[in-house]
Amino acid sequence: MFKKILIANRGEIALRIHRTCQDMGIKTVAIHSTADENAMHVKLADESVCIGPPQIKDSYLNIPSIISAATIANVDAVHPGVGLLSENSEFAKIVNDHGYNFIGPKYEHLAVMGDKIEAKKMAKKIGLPILPGSEDNVKNYKDAIEISKIIGFPILIKATKGGGGRGIKKVFSLNELKVQFSLAKSEAKSSFGDDSVYIEKYLINPRHIEIQIIADNHENVIHIGERDCSIQRRSQKILEECPSPVLTDNEREKIYNISVKAMKNLNYQNLGTIEYLYENGEFYFIEMNTRLQVEHPISEVVYGIDIVKEQIKVASGMKISFKQNDIKKYGHSIECRINAENSKTFYPSSGLIKTYHVPGGPGIRVDSALYSGLEISNHYDGLVAKLIIQGRDRKECLMRLKRALTEFVIEGIDTTIPLHKSIIQKKEFISGQYDINWLEKNI
Ligand code: ADP
Ligand code: ADP
Ligand code: MG
Repeated sequence: MFKKILIANRGEIALRIHRTCQDMGIKTVAIHSTADENAMHVKLADESVCIGPPQIKDSYLNIPSIISAATIANVDAVHPGVGLLSENSEFAKIVNDHGYNFIGPKYEHLAVMGDKIEAKKMAKKIGLPILPGSEDNVKNYKDAIEISKIIGFPILIKATKGGGGRGIKKVFSLNELKVQFSLAKSEAKSSFGDDSVYIEKYLINPRHIEIQIIADNHENVIHIGERDCSIQRRSQKILEECPSPVLTDNEREKIYNISVKAMKNLNYQNLGTIEYLYENGEFYFIEMNTRLQVEHPISEVVYGIDIVKEQIKVASGMKISFKQNDIKKYGHSIECRINAENSKTFYPSSGLIKTYHVPGGPGIRVDSALYSGLEISNHYDGLVAKLIIQGRDRKECLMRLKRALTEFVIEGIDTTIPLHKSIIQKKEFISGQYDINWLEKNI
């Protein structure tokens, strides 16, 4: 097992990984920008290295600085966390080339799944159901017309290198196609440095359902159930549930089996999440995230597994510590993403945290790196806390969620706590009858 791990991330997720390392007796090395000198992930780590100025391109995305930090601290492995460099295949390769273990999948799998066209081709090859759309990069408007005639409107134009809900354009008719196509290409170029786009059938009322996978280097692939992430704003997840309130047990088994079989075909290793859209009883692959996922705690709660611990174990060459039949789901879990933004305007918010009071009692977990007196800057991702609730069934979970949101106090910045309070009052949410567009239409 590793003795020392460098955590190449910040905030809540860096702290989450640090905590599991502590539980495993592994020393941690934090990296931080000059703006994060007083951050909780730095205070709690065994060692820390400053890797650059506030801007992420000069610090948390600065690969030479991170590799130097790994060398200075003499670590065995690097955990990339979530976002930032976690899906960067070049980074994984450089980490390996310098003799450190990259806690994630193989370089080739990061590369193929990081390119959404290649990912979709691969998905088809390994037996995943995909949505109708272009097989390749759509180079020009003429080809875009051809494809949209075949699959029919509405369609989406998606950036091949897109992510975080950005780089997706909806097109409802041929009249809009020309303008949207050129917009999609130029935005893809400016946001992701690559203007390639592809076209996909747009589903009107789907749910977002994803399957958590873990695989070791000994040909074991296990699923850890599904998460329903249909409460979204601008294609970004706001609240997630495990299990999904709408799937039947037959549908569950079907998609678990398809997912596990596909990962075996791919010879995949480490953690992965296969994202699907679900409509009228059918699943359609949209992408695969080759890393730990923000919403992993709801699966941990329901299945009683420390997913980060298993991830570290399999990265070190050990087998997964359980078999498929050993794990059983218990009850229900919901995660609320608490972002530093205004609940009505969604403008990012920054400032000094004046009061920070976390809820407690039965069924409550809070993953956060906040504390009173911390300065929240606008350089980084706005996710500042995750409220994770457990209940023996969905009803108990909802009651506890309501209690926890009432107790939670974060003063000094705007947060999305009021948004969550209003979501959980709505009858569609309470009954579980919502799709990916529901939140934007109803809040
Ligand atoms: P998806 O890509 O399907 O939305 P997730 O929501 O699990 O998957 O996570 C990706 C998002 O996490 C990124 O788009 C980004 O907004 C956010 N993120 C990036 N860096 C961090 C970080 N250090 N801590 C927490 N969240 C981050
Ligand atoms: P990202 O990398 O930004 O997470 P995804 O492909 O996972 O990109 O899509 C993000 C979200 O966009 C999905 O969860 C869903 O809400 C919406 N979406 C993506 N593809 C489609 C589609 N074909 N039809 C309808 N909605 C879609
Ligand atoms: Mg996604």
